[in-house]
Amino acid sequence: MTQVMRRVSDLKDLARKYYLEVVLSPHECPDCGGHLQMVGQSQSACPFGHVLDPTLSFQRSPCCSVELVRKTFHYACSRCNQIVPSRFLFDERIFNKAYFREMMQESRSRDKKRREELRKFFAESRSNTLTFLEEPDIGSIPGLAEDLNAFVGTEMVGTKEFCYKTAFSMTQYREHVLSMIGLGGRLFSTISPMSEDSRKDKAWRFITLLFMEQDREVTLTQYGQDLLVERFDHEAYA
Ligand SMILES: [Zn+2]
Ligand SMILES: [Zn+2]
Repeated sequence: MTQVMRRVSDLKDLARKYYLEVVLSPHECPDCGGHLQMVGQSQSACPFGHVLDPTLSFQRSPCCSVELVRKTFHYACSRCNQIVPSRFLFDERIFNKAYFREMMQESRSRDKKRREELRKFFAESRSNTLTFLEEPDIGSIPGLAEDLNAFVGTEMVGTKEFCYKTAFSMTQYREHVLSMIGLGGRLFSTISPMSEDSRKDKAWRFITLLFMEQDREVTLTQYGQDLLVERFDHEAYA
């Protein structure tokens, strides 16, 4: 097992090097035109020793197309302050685990109330197959409509369009999510849909994820406009 983990981490190192080379390759040192190499976390340097942070030098915010600013643990749009994931960091995590743990704890307590309401809402929450026979009132769960809208990318998830009449197997979604995230993690938006109705599919995936987080199978972290889904790190929380 340890050997397997070591091979996975070796592969990850190789992938990281390769990735960083690729994202840096279109850029050159603004001072001398030299070839840039990553020399540290968020630091690159040319052969003449000009050091720069490639995220600040080369990346613009997708929201306002302006320069980014570096905050303590992440980058943000210099105009509207939205968090912007750096292209020049290989891992989805921004800078450090401790920060994420803190953020997760915060969001966990914030979400706890919402999840409890959601749980109450689904009378048969513990059964393997959830079948929704009635149209739920999404508006009765604080924040859920907004969250679903943000992830689903539609203007309004109204109760009328949002119909649960089709049976929904949480077990299947759960297995699908676990197989998609593998040993590491994956962005919510890149988990392939299981149903042809993409809007419903996203909402169901999201609801499944809330339950999976509650059951400590995954951790969810907001990542810009997306959601980072990771296998729950039992060691980190032991
Ligand atoms: Zn240079
Ligand atoms: Zn912005």
